[in-house]
Amino acid sequence: MFTRWTNYSEYLKRRHGHSVYRIGVDGGFSCPNRRSDKTGGCAFCDGTGSVAVYQRKAESGYTRLSSYDAEVASGILKPQLTIREEIERGRSFLKRRYGAEGFALCFQSYTNTYDTVDNLRRKYDEALSVIDFEEFIVSTRPDTVPDDVLSLLSSYRTERRDVWVEFGLQSADDSTLEYINRGHDTACYLDAVTRAHEHGLLVSTHIILGLPGEGRESFIRSAEMLNRAGSDAVKIHNLHITGGTELADEYLDGVITAMSEERTLEAVELFLRHLAPEIIVERMISETPYHRLIAPRKFPDKSKFLSHLDARMTRNNTRQGDCYEKR
Ligand code: SF4
Repeated sequence: MFTRWTNYSEYLKRRHGHSVYRIGVDGGFSCPNRRSDKTGGCAFCDGTGSVAVYQRKAESGYTRLSSYDAEVASGILKPQLTIREEIERGRSFLKRRYGAEGFALCFQSYTNTYDTVDNLRRKYDEALSVIDFEEFIVSTRPDTVPDDVLSLLSSYRTERRDVWVEFGLQSADDSTLEYINRGHDTACYLDAVTRAHEHGLLVSTHIILGLPGEGRESFIRSAEMLNRAGSDAVKIHNLHITGGTELADEYLDGVITAMSEERTLEAVELFLRHLAPEIIVERMISETPYHRLIAPRKFPDKSKFLSHLDARMTRNNTRQGDCYEKR
């Protein structure tokens, strides 16, 4: 077990008495940051909207050894299964693979609060009726959470079940947010986290390390932004250049680069050292399927990366929060 950062799976075990596995579903939502013809959007977004790999039936033949496939990578994925089918498929996969007992429902594809309250309620109710989920997670943008949606989400909280909102922030620098066309600024994020907390919701924040023009100071600022917001958890992504994105064009033109493993280890360690110790770390690196990934191609898998990070932090005698100053 890793002890140099605040581990998500250990948190879930303490909270529920057993491991809890996430089932990601695509509720058929779109994204306010993409145009109706599916163009536009964030410069790093390939339009798949983070659909879980095991839900991509048409791509199940690809593996970690697969080469980049430009045709698949530029295709937009449509939901193929109903929400109920996705959950049942996810549950049977997780039971078979890990012997899973507890489950978290995660609406993870695109912007999962981008609809009327009635439609959201209908989809959330349908999904939550399939299994007795112990965690309910909704991934969205900070500019798409009006108070009536937060009230709806709050209504799903029980003594046994927490409700989380996952906000994509990506960077603490407004100039970077503009460059990558996020369509919101950091003030919008801070306001959304405050209102989510006022509704009794827990908040997780997505951060990308290695965005164009960003370095050590930016990584520290990102950690400090999460501390200031009081985010309950973080998902760290190292920048992945995926096919069919604006950043792919810039990468292929030689304008930007993707961090190597060594640089990513250094960035993640620095970020963690400045992150408040109580913030739960849900993810350390991106996991783009290899047939969609242009760069970085030479990178260890998640478990090796975590071992390398742990070894590095042990060697350096560093840990999450050791540079954190409460303000
Ligand atoms: S908000 Fe999410 S789905 Fe929308 S363009 Fe950005 S990354 Fe893609």
